[in-house]
Amino acid sequence: MATKKDYYDILGINKNVGPDEIKTAYRKLARKYHPDMNSESEKKAAEEKFKELSEAYEVLIDPKKKQMYDQYGHQGVDQQFGPGGFDFSRDFTHSGDIEDILGNLLGNLFGGGFSRRASGDSDSVINRIFGGGGGGNRRGSDLRINIQLTLKEIANGVTKKIKIKKYEKCKTCGGIGGKGLKTCPKCGGSGRVKQVTSTIFGQMMNVVACPECEGRGKIISERCNECRGSGIAENIATVAIKIPGGVKAGNYISLRGQGNAGRNGGTSGDLIAVIDEQKNDIFERRDGNIFMKLPISFSVAALGGKVEVPTLDGKVSMRIPRGTQSGKIFKLRGKGLANLNNYRKGDELVEVSVRVPEKLSSEAEKTIKELSQLLNDEY
Ligand SMILES: [Zn+2]
Ligand SMILES: [Zn+2]
Repeated sequence: MATKKDYYDILGINKNVGPDEIKTAYRKLARKYHPDMNSESEKKAAEEKFKELSEAYEVLIDPKKKQMYDQYGHQGVDQQFGPGGFDFSRDFTHSGDIEDILGNLLGNLFGGGFSRRASGDSDSVINRIFGGGGGGNRRGSDLRINIQLTLKEIANGVTKKIKIKKYEKCKTCGGIGGKGLKTCPKCGGSGRVKQVTSTIFGQMMNVVACPECEGRGKIISERCNECRGSGIAENIATVAIKIPGGVKAGNYISLRGQGNAGRNGGTSGDLIAVIDEQKNDIFERRDGNIFMKLPISFSVAALGGKVEVPTLDGKVSMRIPRGTQSGKIFKLRGKGLANLNNYRKGDELVEVSVRVPEKLSSEAEKTIKELSQLLNDEY
């Protein structure tokens, strides 16, 4: 086998780009190399390129796989794919992401009316294109969501209740798709049929999953009316996600089995919650510490005194010692962010600056001049 190309090179991106850029790069190239967008003579090459792109995307868009790839290269992710390496029809779980590309094309190919009932459906559309043999009960797709957190939520950790649209097991049939199993008459129970298909690559002879029973060899005698036999239904689900304090943008939490339910009793995908940090008007995050600037008056700076300082838990009083200079940083211990690795909380760092009045009454001006003489200020 030839040496595999670097996934980042395939998508023409560098290691530091975020999911949006990965998606954009993939969409652009997938559109360019989609077999149907290329002439007859170039279809085969385009198909190879399209699969290569999709493999790179499959890995890089998934935070877990990306991390493994960044750390260990192809070896780190190859075992995630089935035997023989990446197989588009089996291992590509992000068909939903290219739905707009495929959707338009498939609309033309299959006489319009293409709509995606479940992620599993576009999988099977892809199976039809690439001749893959998807079984009847497929694992549900992973769901990826972004969670916006305020600095205060990051400081202490939070449990977020999020409403998401996802496929769940049909309550009426319990995910089976109906009741009363019988041997499929089309394939005689083998789950496989020979099929000559006119694909976008020309005529193909394939052994494919039986379309009648979707490869299971058995069909349901009485189809569930609620889910029309798919075993899944789209619902709005409320998911509680417990987020520990101290997380950073780009961190993610993977909730096993909380993604889309699989069709016909297949296992559910995972829910992957990616952390986003909301900007704070007052504080700037510095790892586990938070930083802010606080203007203080000349008299407090010179004579000392107490000032009110905002923290993530409300205002506290802070003592300013006599003779404090601009730029001095005070530390409020434990007023920063929780740490993911230990119990010590970070600090709040307060940098003071001496505020100079901009408008002066003539009396104030006179007093400052007198003070300057008293202090022997030369400049
Ligand atoms: Zn049902
Ligand atoms: Zn069958």
